[in-house]
Amino acid sequence: MSGQNFGIGTKCVQAGYTPGNGEPRQIPIVQSTTFKYDTSEDMGKLFDLEASGYFYTRLQNPTNDYVAAKIAALEGGCAAMLTSSGQAANFFALFNICECGSHIVSSSSIYGGTFNLISVTMKKMGIDVTFVSPDCTEEELNAAFRDNTRAVFGETIANPALTVLDIEKFARAAHDHGVPLIVDNTFPTPVHCRPIEWGADIVTHSTTKYMDGHGTAVGGAIVDSGHFDWMAHADKFPGLTTPDDSYHGITYAEKFGQEGAFITKCTAQLMRDFGCIQSPQHAFYLNLGLESLHVRMRRHAENGQAVAEFLAGRPDVAAVHFSGLPGDPYHELAKKYLPEGGCGVVSFELAGGRKAAEAFMKKLKLAAIETHVADARSCCLNPATSTHRQMTDEQLAAAGIPAGLIRMSCGLEDAADLIADLKQALEG
Ligand SMILES: *Cc1c(COP(=O)(O)O)cnc(C)c1O
Repeated sequence: MSGQNFGIGTKCVQAGYTPGNGEPRQIPIVQSTTFKYDTSEDMGKLFDLEASGYFYTRLQNPTNDYVAAKIAALEGGCAAMLTSSGQAANFFALFNICECGSHIVSSSSIYGGTFNLISVTMKKMGIDVTFVSPDCTEEELNAAFRDNTRAVFGETIANPALTVLDIEKFARAAHDHGVPLIVDNTFPTPVHCRPIEWGADIVTHSTTKYMDGHGTAVGGAIVDSGHFDWMAHADKFPGLTTPDDSYHGITYAEKFGQEGAFITKCTAQLMRDFGCIQSPQHAFYLNLGLESLHVRMRRHAENGQAVAEFLAGRPDVAAVHFSGLPGDPYHELAKKYLPEGGCGVVSFELAGGRKAAEAFMKKLKLAAIETHVADARSCCLNPATSTHRQMTDEQLAAAGIPAGLIRMSCGLEDAADLIADLKQALEG
């Protein structure tokens, strides 16, 4: 597979692992914590990062590396690693280049878990953040930077707000200030958007969502484009550009170059010290999901579009948020960044508010009530009566989550059946 310019579907099926003569056709699950060597010298070279190879699964495992290589190929990156969750992926991607005293510029429209990670937990580590609206002007965006800014962060399609990030605008601002843009590409997946092609430097994923796609395994991934020149901004990124005392004085950007530095440091340092590994068994499940990702994403987006169009024509639905709809505020950005569709998540507001939402949720037959999204099976969530039930209608409205808001993740069922289910629930 390597070196050839195959289409995204071929990469989904075959990238990352090419068996030799007589070797297993499917990727082997290397269910071993440790690896055996003939001499201490052989193993010593691995510990010195003088040779590449495996010695302990907390740092690297062949199964995980096959799957990470596939995700790198899909995103058009040069290197990748798997993590135990999407949360770990975003934390590692940021903490690999930030330290106490650093500052992050982030889109305010991001996943709640990532918002807490950055605004509460990383703040306790002495890392500051300025949140900006994804719709801000270039002037507003540039004004958010400080001397100690080390990264810019955003989500291609934000969960749950479904805003679409103007990746080029954010990349330009990041690069003008000598820092990388990190994009969480969980919702569109590389099948529908490849942020690196628009200037992103690092891409992260919660593989728990569409990449796995079957609700089987929590996981994450980090992909490096290899495009960011750490040495050109050496003073900002000492972790990559000065010797690492915990690794025999290795300077990552010198020893592994622009394409190897980020992921090598992230593995050798952060995975060594924090240990958020994905198990090889989970990586195997993830790969099964990836093999059909291109087929499934098309169907998820088609079902999302059909459901959004149906809802937009209903008098009992006050608003529909889906960037594939011509009237949506993000439709123009979606045409540019998501020309073949985004994902299957649609949110909509029932005109009848909380009471209507309660009745609607009770009547659903096909779509299950879950906090999960991006699964083969459709599911719905009414934040006001579940995840956000401690908030009053007034507080919900102020937070931009009206009591009648429903988030639906359209699965892979027949669109006609999903629409029939919505119709009977609306008419109850
Ligand atoms: C779910 C999600 C995460 C967190 O991922 P986990 O795998 O649940 O840890 C991060 N970013 C986005 C956009 C998500 O949807």
